[in-house]
Amino acid sequence: MKYNKNHMEFLSKIWDRKNNQVLICPLCKGKMIVVQLEPIQDVENAYVPYDTIIECTHCDFKISAESFSILGSVKDFDLKYIQIASWSPSGSRVISRYEHILDYDLLKKLKESTELKEFLIVNKQVIQVIG
Ligand SMILES: [Zn+2]
Repeated sequence: MKYNKNHMEFLSKIWDRKNNQVLICPLCKGKMIVVQLEPIQDVENAYVPYDTIIECTHCDFKISAESFSILGSVKDFDLKYIQIASWSPSGSRVISRYEHILDYDLLKKLKESTELKEFLIVNKQVIQVIG
């Protein structure tokens, strides 16, 4: 199945399943992976967003999205939102607030450790902590 805008509604369904941060294909229940393609020009965004494909590793299902990542630490969070403390490209401290689908216990651990992590943000929602 080719991706198109109508499939964007699938995203929320995939991400509502809090299955250890694994994205699940709505068609075959296979694991989905995030593939970043070309950078997008976006003056509103301090970070570089990428055209992104989220594709199933088992069937042909794909969806298009926009993603970017932020290196930072968890400043605060609740069940719906996370605040990430990071640096803008000019080097000043920035607090960004996004919706997230991350595990509450994981966020609690990260906030206590104040460790720097890379947060993957797809369609303005934090979906994964990398590294
Ligand atoms: Zn699939």
